[in-house]
Amino acid sequence: MKLNEFPDDIRHYLIPEPSGTMFYRCLGCRGEFAIDHLLYTCPSCGGILMLYHQPTGKAKDINGALWRKIFDYRGMLNFNPLKGIFRYYEFIAPIIPLEAILYLGEAHTPVVMANKNLESATGGPFYFKYEGLNPSLSFKDRGMACALSFLTYLAKNKNIKDLLTICASTGDTSASGALYSAYLTGLIKSAVLLPKGKVTPQQLSQPLGSGATVLEVPGVFDDCMKVVEELSENYNVALLNSKNSWRILGQESYSFEIAQDFDYQVADKVIFVPIGNAGNITAIISGFLKFLKANVIPELPKIIGVQSDHADPVYRYYLEDDPSRRRFEPVTVKPSVAQAAMIGNPVSMPRVIDLVGEYNLAAGQERIFFVSVTEQEIMDAMIIANKNGHIACTQGGESMAGFMKAIEGGLVSKGEIGILAATAHTLKFSSFQDMYLANRFPPEFQVKPRKAYRNTPISVQPKGLRKLPQAGKPLQGKDLDLFIKASAAEIARILDLKKR
Ligand SMILES: *Cc1c(COP(=O)(O)O)cnc(C)c1O
Ligand SMILES: [Zn+2]
Repeated sequence: MKLNEFPDDIRHYLIPEPSGTMFYRCLGCRGEFAIDHLLYTCPSCGGILMLYHQPTGKAKDINGALWRKIFDYRGMLNFNPLKGIFRYYEFIAPIIPLEAILYLGEAHTPVVMANKNLESATGGPFYFKYEGLNPSLSFKDRGMACALSFLTYLAKNKNIKDLLTICASTGDTSASGALYSAYLTGLIKSAVLLPKGKVTPQQLSQPLGSGATVLEVPGVFDDCMKVVEELSENYNVALLNSKNSWRILGQESYSFEIAQDFDYQVADKVIFVPIGNAGNITAIISGFLKFLKANVIPELPKIIGVQSDHADPVYRYYLEDDPSRRRFEPVTVKPSVAQAAMIGNPVSMPRVIDLVGEYNLAAGQERIFFVSVTEQEIMDAMIIANKNGHIACTQGGESMAGFMKAIEGGLVSKGEIGILAATAHTLKFSSFQDMYLANRFPPEFQVKPRKAYRNTPISVQPKGLRKLPQAGKPLQGKDLDLFIKASAAEIARILDLKKR
């Protein structure tokens, strides 16, 4: 819809102007720093940073009802920079000029309701939010859209050329970082570090196709992360891991969308999210808090973080009920099908600790919980979900296994509705699904495929034929007729079809 066709009272709010100031704040020493340099850690104490916005001008006086109206109308606006995460511009990074905004088709992913079959299998009603429908097939695109928009702005502003982006990845950060950097070819080059043999073939092919330099490093993700931290502290590179707080801001759009998808009523919703480096749960908590503070939503949803028992340091931290006695201990990860979340020392842990406290305080009760699930439960959930019409990846299976665990443990009550993150597209992780369906899971994953779910291709071998068609050598005439009849008969036998 064209701008002049919107109602008068809303029109001049639709296209925002940069306003206010943004700054980094250290979660360790609470020091504040200007955003005219890219910072990943606190220059004075090395602590983890978060970004904050100090609004000025007309954005300060907008009430909850008006915000809701602005976002709902913006959904109809035909204006590229505001089509993705920046529909919520004022709540993400309202200092980035609209010309610097990068939009590659990310965000506004659908929420798809589970059918009755799946509802009874899990024990309650729920939706999957399909993050696998983002351009690089995971939610990481939300964060990259923000980080690369800011980089574009910074590069133009400071006349920086030959920028090199770099990241460590369990597969999806690199796919996304490489894709967004590739769009900025000429301004930006990218390099990605992957733990050798620990990403799926599809995830490996993504950054290669985007033209990134792909570096395979020995060890697991936690090792890669240490190397990339060393690089970003000592060399002139732009780090794209979620240590980069601009990524967190972009990923907050996930919460804003859930609010909007449910007409800003989320008190009865329970958000399930798999935790790896803990960037996403940080963003989700922070996003809902921002909407609450601005009265865009009247109440906060419940949030449940899910981890595999092969990589569950966050879950373990919160096992201790008394906050003053909690101690964070990194864990040594074991092989996990939820490979994108196979992280033993999450970078965003200080952010989680800070925000969980703030969230529960704002809610006036405990509203964030953590559950741990087994590899078996994750795989069974992925298989059952997809047999019921979904496109869940292994981490989506992890969300669903967490939903079932939470119902079992009384963390979800009657009347509450689950919103489960299906964080990537099922095809990125189809190798795990294939191993399950063909009953050839390596023992270290501790997954025993259920016999009833086995599914492998059946080779059709029509009987009594002298000639079979081959590529480049089609059959003709009588031979073709015989082939069609014999194949159809064989398939009818396999499928046990009745004659009409
Ligand atoms: C990155 C990722 C996760 C984990 O998110 P964090 O922000 O690292 O906690 C989960 N699932 C998928 C598919 C991912 O790519
Ligand atoms: Zn500090």
